[in-house]
Amino acid sequence: MKTILITGASAGIGKATAELLAQEKGTRLILTARREEKLKELAATLPCETHLLTFDIRDKAATLAAIRGLPDDWKDIDVLVNNAGLALGLESFDTANPEDWQVMIETNILGLLTLTREILPAMKARGVGHIVNLSSIAGTYHYAGAHVYGASKAFVTYLSLAMRSDLLGTAIRVTNIEPGMVDTEFSIVRFKGDESRADAVYANSEPLHAEDIAETIRWAIAQPAHVNINRIELMATCQAPSGPKVWRQE
Ligand code: NAP
Repeated sequence: MKTILITGASAGIGKATAELLAQEKGTRLILTARREEKLKELAATLPCETHLLTFDIRDKAATLAAIRGLPDDWKDIDVLVNNAGLALGLESFDTANPEDWQVMIETNILGLLTLTREILPAMKARGVGHIVNLSSIAGTYHYAGAHVYGASKAFVTYLSLAMRSDLLGTAIRVTNIEPGMVDTEFSIVRFKGDESRADAVYANSEPLHAEDIAETIRWAIAQPAHVNINRIELMATCQAPSGPKVWRQE
């Protein structure tokens, strides 16, 4: 039985990944997020065993307590999908809200570090494990207003590659996923509930769908044990790496 923990499973990429991986024979899922109801609704539709953990990944004590409190038969985690994350705001650096920076750094960087540091030693001891980190093209290509969000994702990309060095000689694999724009709750969160501003991000274009990223994750973890997919950068066909520009139908 393969146990896969997915953070941020209540929406978007995490939810689609749970839905896809739940179909694989011999898989069971630990699903985490803050919105318990969303996790319960999702779990009720999945054709596999699930264990739900509700915690805010910014809260170090709650994160550690959730992992340490796993029942003994759920402690052996084979795959960790570090997906929970967010962008807040798109203002220029000089007018951006530093409180937004704090939330992004605590979630995208510190939350990911806390969880990974807690789970990795057991993977190493068992000689089994795959860590999949959700970074972004924003970690490579900068665009106006993405300063701290992009920097947090550059951190994730660097960390994924650096961890490969630390884990050399073990069986543990690390994969960094770097999507371009994906149509999820991401922009609604970024623009703090302003749906029309969020809709404008995807207007007259076909962005990636959460299912596209789920399929990429499924493929990366399905590779034979001697193959490590270091990083995958993927974008909608209508988006280009410079800018990143989006082509919109007239
Ligand atoms: P989404 O639809 O907004 O989903 C984000 C998930 O993260 C939700 O399940 C949310 O759950 C969880 N989350 C956020 N803050 C949390 C916290 N403090 N504690 C626990 N869980 C938290 O966004 P998405 O597009 O699927 O994003 C998933 C990942 O992909 C993120 O790391 C994002 O940066 C990355 N990404 C997205 C895009 C894009 O265009 N959409 C592109 C590149 C990379 P709760 O709210 O229930 O806690």
